[in-house]
Amino acid sequence: MIELTEKDEVKPLCPYCPAAIDELWFQQVRIFFGRRYVYFCSIC
Ligand SMILES: [Zn+2]
Repeated sequence: MIELTEKDEVKPLCPYCPAAIDELWFQQVRIFFGRRYVYFCSIC
C-alpha cells in the first residue's frame, strides 16, 4: 500500500516545460462519454 501525504511547501514541475508551477490553468475537453480537463502551467 502507498500512503498519500500532502506537501504544500514543494512546487511541482510542469510536465510540458521545466517551469515550477505557481498557478495551474486548465481547459475543458468534451469527449463522447463525458468531460476531461487538460492542465498546464501559465507559461505554456
Ligand atoms: Zn509549462
